[in-house]
Amino acid sequence: METEFEGFVIAGAGIAGLATALALHRVGIKSLVLEQAESLRATGGGLGVWTNAWKALTALGIADQLREQHPVLLQSFELISLDQGMTRNFSIQASDSGHELRCVKRAALLEALATALPPDTIKYNCKVLRVRQSLSSKYSSETELEDGTVIRAKGVIGCDGVRSVVSQGFLGLPAPTSAGRCGIRGLATYADGHGASPSLQMHFLNGVTFGRMPVNDKELFWFIVRNPPPQDYAEISHDPLRIREFSSSLLKDFPSQIKDVIGLTATDSLNMAVLRFKWPWDILNNSAYKGSVTAAGDAVHPMTPDLAQGGNSALEDAIVLARCLAETLNGRSNADNEGQIVEKALKKYVDEMKWRWVWLVSQAYITGVVQQGSSRFIRFIRDNIALKFRSPKDMFIHATYDCGTLPTVNPI
Ligand SMILES: Cc1cc2nc3c(=O)[nH]c(=O)nc-3n(C[C@H](O)[C@H](O)[C@H](O)COP(=O)(O)OP(=O)(O)OC[C@H]3O[C@@H](n4cnc5c(N)ncnc54)[C@H](O)[C@@H]3O)c2cc1C
Repeated sequence: METEFEGFVIAGAGIAGLATALALHRVGIKSLVLEQAESLRATGGGLGVWTNAWKALTALGIADQLREQHPVLLQSFELISLDQGMTRNFSIQASDSGHELRCVKRAALLEALATALPPDTIKYNCKVLRVRQSLSSKYSSETELEDGTVIRAKGVIGCDGVRSVVSQGFLGLPAPTSAGRCGIRGLATYADGHGASPSLQMHFLNGVTFGRMPVNDKELFWFIVRNPPPQDYAEISHDPLRIREFSSSLLKDFPSQIKDVIGLTATDSLNMAVLRFKWPWDILNNSAYKGSVTAAGDAVHPMTPDLAQGGNSALEDAIVLARCLAETLNGRSNADNEGQIVEKALKKYVDEMKWRWVWLVSQAYITGVVQQGSSRFIRFIRDNIALKFRSPKDMFIHATYDCGTLPTVNPI
């Protein structure tokens, strides 16, 4: 079956896909989000949402409802080396550093984005197989789905995550590299309250990192990062019971209040993944747009989770991309070829974001190498230099980025 769509096709209904659809909707541009799963995928429990992402959520018009649902404003970032018995505390109190960090439930974020979209914007059970350029003068891209449907549209935005068929298949971007580490995430529920301090804590012991942030009084989002992934990673990662067992084994030498989180975590919130990232030169040496096709979020700049910025930066992409499209499409003359105008807008988006992506993937990688290192040398650097001499200003510099606002425009 062949169909035509008067707007942009977005592959993937994760944070990047839904935020891009909502940003386009806010500037009057239609989109159709194609998601391979049968419903929203809210795996992974929660995520840290920093100042830069709150700016994007404000532009999208959903910041205040998420703040109401997530009242805990985190006050400090604590790095705790159990290897050395050393703690470093960085204040992130809004009054000290000007930063806002809250732990937001992934499901709440996806639902807030999805419910703000016009009805029928998201189509589930739609797996994108490939994308190609179209020869039609009106619709410059074609998206082919697994069931054989072909959708012609003004353009395609690949928000289909680390294994993106849009960025790796059509744009020709290199596949991400394994960081040689794996991450496990979960959401623990304490019926009588967890009593945890309003802080993002990271504990390091024997090459294992345990992090945790309160979502509210009763729920605590936690993650474990360990290198290397276990040999039987493929089997463990598909079986929540084995993820639970493996998590307990990683935490066996940690204090008991940390070990307790595993037993208090619902099986369906457990998630395990090999951490993947893009080398900065892969971003610099390859174009993230071609014709009327581009990508956003993990599809173009996957990063290790050491800055807690992967999802945050996907929100930034959405705002910048929608602004570039709205401004360029509104400024066109009737004589302009629409495909060329879209390409001009996508170039503007990629030019504006490229160095931000390079900086984030590099900074996250370096932070991970230093924080996660299990060799004595790296632990020495972490405990004697990184933990002692970093200032809050340089710790949180990644969160000062301002993606700007969305223009008020006539529907396109
Ligand atoms: C341990 C860990 C902790 C993290 N902590 C944080 C944090 O605190 N803060 C933060 O900002 N980020 C964090 N991240 C990173 C964050 O989770 C990701 O960067 C973010 O989810 C990327 O969103 P996305 O929409 O680009 O991709 P995804 O979330 O991967 O979404 C892609 C979507 O596309 C769909 N899809 C894929 N292929 C196709 C196809 N062919 N056709 C149709 N649909 C398709 C998928 O089903 C999925 O729904 C963390 C990551 C890990 C691993």
